[in-house]
Amino acid sequence: MVIACKHVWDYLSEYIDGTLSVETRELVQRHLDHCGICSAILDSTRNIIILTADERVFELPVGFSERLHAKLDLEFARAQDR
Ligand SMILES: [Zn+2]
Repeated sequence: MVIACKHVWDYLSEYIDGTLSVETRELVQRHLDHCGICSAILDSTRNIIILTADERVFELPVGFSERLHAKLDLEFARAQDR
């Protein structure tokens, strides 16, 4: 079973938290192994989480998720153009 990038993005925070089921985690892991876009997104998402954790602020700003997804869509479209 192959999952699309957009689905991986939905799982990323849980993937980082380690709360995914073993099967889902494996799917995400396998996708990350061959997808440079999602690996890059995983890295930057980790950085964001580390930054917020340092500030002891765990609540994301309103609209953060929407903005992040909009940015991801843009990056993905750009990557597809290449
Ligand atoms: Zn991907």
